[in-house]
Amino acid sequence: MTDDSTFGPVSARRRALLKAAGLGGAFVAVGGSTLLSAPANALPTSARIVIIGAGAAGIAAANRLDSALDGARITIIDRRQRHLYQPGLTLVATGIWRPGKVVDSNERYLPRSVNWIQDHVAEIDPDANRVVTTGGQNIDYDYLLVTTGLTVDYAAIEGMSRDLIGREGIGCVYDNPEHAERTWRMIDHYVTAGGVGLFTRGPGGIKCAGAPLKVTMLTEDLARRRGTRASLEMIYNSPSGGLFSQPDTNEFLKGEFPSRDIGINWHHRLKGIEPEARRATFATPQGDVRLDYDFIHVVPPMRAPDALGNSPLAWQDGPFAADGNWMEVDQYSMRHRRYGNVFGAGDCVGTPIGKTAASVKAQVPVAVDNLISVLAEREAVQRFNGYTSCPLITGRGRGILVEFDYALNMVPSFPFISPYREHWVPWVMKDRMLQPAYNAMLRGRI
Ligand SMILES: Cc1cc2nc3c(=O)[nH]c(=O)nc-3n(C[C@H](O)[C@H](O)[C@H](O)COP(=O)(O)OP(=O)(O)OC[C@H]3O[C@@H](n4cnc5c(N)ncnc54)[C@H](O)[C@@H]3O)c2cc1C
Repeated sequence: MTDDSTFGPVSARRRALLKAAGLGGAFVAVGGSTLLSAPANALPTSARIVIIGAGAAGIAAANRLDSALDGARITIIDRRQRHLYQPGLTLVATGIWRPGKVVDSNERYLPRSVNWIQDHVAEIDPDANRVVTTGGQNIDYDYLLVTTGLTVDYAAIEGMSRDLIGREGIGCVYDNPEHAERTWRMIDHYVTAGGVGLFTRGPGGIKCAGAPLKVTMLTEDLARRRGTRASLEMIYNSPSGGLFSQPDTNEFLKGEFPSRDIGINWHHRLKGIEPEARRATFATPQGDVRLDYDFIHVVPPMRAPDALGNSPLAWQDGPFAADGNWMEVDQYSMRHRRYGNVFGAGDCVGTPIGKTAASVKAQVPVAVDNLISVLAEREAVQRFNGYTSCPLITGRGRGILVEFDYALNMVPSFPFISPYREHWVPWVMKDRMLQPAYNAMLRGRI
């Protein structure tokens, strides 16, 4: 386990570039959305605004609403007190960061004037403008902002459960810091002992679709550095016929994996796992296939939390209903398509792309600004263009900065970093710059 200092001193040229980049890159760049320009004078209102979920999107929205409105009664509901910097879990699971580095507290970021109910929402009734908590509290609202994030559906994989992470060669980067650290122990052992490593990816919409790829490439890179690469057989199992939704990045990866001797099984969806036998079952177009492994990175399918997915706010039909009961919003305005006083942002919404903190950064100002416009009886004009970004780490010290929009066009923030080839800047962003930028986003400052 190492810390930041092992990356070595930052050269003067690097310092100059990073300074020029401000807090850095894609995440900090506005990404096609318009930042909420806080009004010189906050808008007076006594509206009741409820936010469900105090994660990245919910806290950023609470801060923006709090500074833009005067007199609003803002309530945020979430029983979770720890704040997790989830983008850092990839670095914890690959032994680069310590788990404590990704743990913070919601209290530090929530404005004092916002009423925080430390409970979960069990039911949403948008016809009555009311939510009900698991503790039985009824909370009425005038405007609702849904930011519940998503649920990682371990039960969708037969034989899998959260408590298996860190046992029997099973890892998963998508859980909490403790499980990410246990995943690191599994990877550390695998890279030393060798054998067959299966790397998987849940089908459909998952948060940070780059994370399963980064875990695969960082594991491969580690084995090479340790001199054990020849004893590892590594196979990435894609549930589809591609590796990444953005076509240029997909082409890059389709060349990169074979060149690093990482095998690819196309159309292999992880269906079941037998932990003691260390055997996985994949659904394929040719029928079920069983593969033995020494290490497996399990990435389950993901879906909207039940309170949202079972509510009238979810898409009622179509691809976003079938994929994960995601919330129905207009993909540009972030406003609900059937309930005009309801908005959504973050991983829970059903939009063609997103599910990154970088998208949260671009979506929240749009959702908040449009909510305020509706409240003020103005037209809701802000638009989210689908911006998402991923510093796709290909090995320690290098990566590709991938930024794209709904049209899957690359929208690079920095002319000096090509999104088509590896560079050290995306690594420095991931390792050092994105967390401060994320914290500034939570405070509603960027
Ligand atoms: C391993 C990993 C790597 C990642 N890497 C990157 C990266 O490199 N770059 C990037 O931009 N993004 C990355 N992300 C994605 C990013 O972290 C998420 O997109 C972002 O956190 C989503 O924010 P959110 O507010 O929608 O959800 P979250 O931050 O997950 O917050 C959702 C909140 O809602 C609460 N909640 C859920 N249900 C209820 C309920 N019923 N009632 C009340 N509250 C509820 C939860 O307790 C939680 O606090 C990564 C994520 C992971 C897991």
